[in-house]
Amino acid sequence: MNIALYLPNAERMEWWVRHLGTLLPEHTVLAHTAVTTPSDVDIAVVWRPPGGWLASLPNLKLTISIGAGIDHVAEDPQYPSHIPVLKTVGPDMVQRMREYVVLHVLRLHRLLPLLQAYQSQAIWKQPITPIAQQRQVGIMGMGGMGKVAARSLAELGFEVRCWSRSQKDIEGVKSYAGDEQLQNFLSDTEILVCLLPLTETTKGILNSTLFSSLPEGACLINAARGQHLMEQDLLDALADGQISQATLDVFTTEPLPQDHAFWLHPQVLVTPHVASLIDPVSGGKIIAENIKRYARGEKLEGMTDVNKGY
Ligand code: NDP
Repeated sequence: MNIALYLPNAERMEWWVRHLGTLLPEHTVLAHTAVTTPSDVDIAVVWRPPGGWLASLPNLKLTISIGAGIDHVAEDPQYPSHIPVLKTVGPDMVQRMREYVVLHVLRLHRLLPLLQAYQSQAIWKQPITPIAQQRQVGIMGMGGMGKVAARSLAELGFEVRCWSRSQKDIEGVKSYAGDEQLQNFLSDTEILVCLLPLTETTKGILNSTLFSSLPEGACLINAARGQHLMEQDLLDALADGQISQATLDVFTTEPLPQDHAFWLHPQVLVTPHVASLIDPVSGGKIIAENIKRYARGEKLEGMTDVNKGY
């Protein structure tokens, strides 16, 4: 089979071509720039391909996303939606997201931004924080990432609630589902974590209407996609106190432009899309294994529904 790779970064793409080529000696692995006959390509392995590129491969049978999200494929209006799309999520990625969410929920819960502000002025003050059992944490999105984060927070004692399309049954986690239960989910959520996929229905969901449904002074953690957040709405909510702190890993424009208000904002912590990066070595093995399964006609890991967008 012929496998074509697209990554926006040429150096990384060359690395992936070599890595997958070593793991799949029985197949031909090519960078998209080396594809001379598009009709020969059977499988595309991609991260943020340009719109229309996948549609230009007339015999494409399978698309594999190098990462957990498939929004970069699903948002292409020319994508032939009958061609299956796999996401790539290794156990290392799930663990990294669990660590990221626990770290930042604890940071906000234990008022570290306030303590750091005190330190910068040599102020000795000892605020007493509520314990985890008195803190309501809400997670939007209960997929592979959301579930492990919710379980870990519940084990720490937090009052955890989740919101997804369908009801979930996770020990220690209260489930809310669908648009009709969103208000109830938000109304007591003091620390809101977004782990939703980016789809037509979730784009811009973190907006002023949603912020106004949270208790005053709530905190936001967005580790999903930048386009979930209406950035100006967050700046306004931070200014008027509706949101007290935000931890942002993802942004509408990445890298975050140097003059962006988030960089130096005293109530915002910026992390450069590192919540759960794919380890290319183990991620490559998962992708290669899926390609071998496909060649043998076996069940594939990480199947998504491209029409739903996740
Ligand atoms: P999954 O596809 O496994 O799960 C998605 C969850 O979101 C499901 O629980 C689904 O509900 C819920 N959902 C989808 N649409 C809606 C909606 N309209 N309303 C309510 N709930 C909805 O996703 P993962 O857990 O694997 O990943 C989540 C996202 O995290 C990825 O799409 C990616 O964007 C982001 N991510 C970010 C990384 C980073 O480094 N910052 C790294 C990896 C991922 P249901 O279960 O009912 O279908």
